[in-house]
Amino acid sequence: MKGLRGKILIIFLVIVLLFNFSSCTKQSVDRTKQDGMVFYEVFVRAFYDSDGDGIGDLKGLTQKLPYIKSLGVNGIWLMPIFKSPSYHGYDVTDYYNINPEYGTNEDFINFLNEAHKLGIKVIIDLVVNHTSSKHPWFLEADTSPKSKFRDYYIWATPDTKLNEPSALGTKQWYNKGSGFYNAIFWSEMPDLNFDNKKVRKEIKKVAKYWLEKGVDGFRLDAAMHIYPPNRIQDTLNWWKEFGDYCRSIKKDVYLVGEVWSSERAIAPYLKYLDSCFNFKLAEGIIDAVMKGDSSKLQYNLPYIYDEYKNSYKDYVDAPFLTNHDMDRVMSKIDDINKMKLAASILLTMPGNPFIYYGEEIGMKGEKPDEYIREPFKWGKEFITGQTRWIDSEYNIGDYAPSVEEQDKDPNSLLNFYRDMIKFRLGNNILSKGDITIIETKPEILGYFRTLNDDKLLVIHNLTDNLLDAELQLNNKLKGEIIRGDGLVQMTENKVKVKLKPYATVIIK
Ligand code: CA
Repeated sequence: MKGLRGKILIIFLVIVLLFNFSSCTKQSVDRTKQDGMVFYEVFVRAFYDSDGDGIGDLKGLTQKLPYIKSLGVNGIWLMPIFKSPSYHGYDVTDYYNINPEYGTNEDFINFLNEAHKLGIKVIIDLVVNHTSSKHPWFLEADTSPKSKFRDYYIWATPDTKLNEPSALGTKQWYNKGSGFYNAIFWSEMPDLNFDNKKVRKEIKKVAKYWLEKGVDGFRLDAAMHIYPPNRIQDTLNWWKEFGDYCRSIKKDVYLVGEVWSSERAIAPYLKYLDSCFNFKLAEGIIDAVMKGDSSKLQYNLPYIYDEYKNSYKDYVDAPFLTNHDMDRVMSKIDDINKMKLAASILLTMPGNPFIYYGEEIGMKGEKPDEYIREPFKWGKEFITGQTRWIDSEYNIGDYAPSVEEQDKDPNSLLNFYRDMIKFRLGNNILSKGDITIIETKPEILGYFRTLNDDKLLVIHNLTDNLLDAELQLNNKLKGEIIRGDGLVQMTENKVKVKLKPYATVIIK
């Protein structure tokens, strides 16, 4: 009797243990619920100044959270906020402290808490391919080949071809005294050596620190450059290690990589990171809207999505129009109706769309970089809180789009973005569904979005003409227009629609 009870108890314990173990392992690899977001990319320096020194700061950003909330977004990506000698912060000197121009660590935690109260997640830029040349690691490493930090960086050997350009086509070896070090972006951004286990440990320690402070994820700068192109697998292995580690700290951490390359190069990263920015889609949307011709986009999109899906079935795309490294979309498109169309396409695409601050009011800007990162325009003229970190060249005088002017105007670009974001997040199919592109004439862009048995048909008119669109269907639809106005005629396998200039119609 006693023996039998003992056995039953042991079997019971084994079952409990096995059950716990399997649910644990399942949780640690589940990253299928990372969609349903719309992110707003913010350059803190340019956003809102709380203390009148002209430089945007975290207290100012916190004060303006209601504005960000009013856009309807549920995520914020902050461009670098750590200590750095540069205005942009992509060369870090201290991964544990906030740039004093932006505020204190306490200000940041307060911002995080306030964002979370509003249901807004916050991801921060993590720049780990390189540090600043002023980072204590590098300063120490460069004192002598015998420094204990020497191996944190990559140093030329007698075999190194010092004149050979980097994968970016840039000069990549520099000498400040103790030897030639590798720096593919800029002499003041020495590349870290990821063959050194200590470096990997340092970077994971940084991630842990901020995740435990409440950060919801990271935007991973220069993710494809960790190792040179002939060592792609090593780069991928690093991101696997980093991704697994982050998920062990915070199981729903969101990781989005900057892999500025083709869909084929991006695809393998989706096995380890939740998302990668879709550069080809960005270029494709703008090109289609500018030319009024969607043929290239129609041709390319199925390839992109197939490539992604074949790599990782539950990938979440990260569509966008332009970011802080590109000329602003309004400078290219230069027309409010076309701009609305571009936003309509962006916000009906699969994945988590990213909107670059100022895009929603039609700010312009062209390179050099400072001028695509101009002070956010709260008022047409200078108003309290507006930053003056640089004198605007593009959003001033005759062309000065502002929140002040657009807030109350129901037809403004700002309110168009608000409405469209709300519509997207209110329709699960748009944020979580699959996409199938419909082959049709170049003046139109059409696609199905599907989620389980639910379907939506999205049709855009890329021209300024009233357009009759006729699309072949192999999907049954009810024929109810849920957005846009037009005339719809449905038959068994065809839909006929009349589209106003630059209009988007969404049919259930
Ligand atoms: Ca300030």
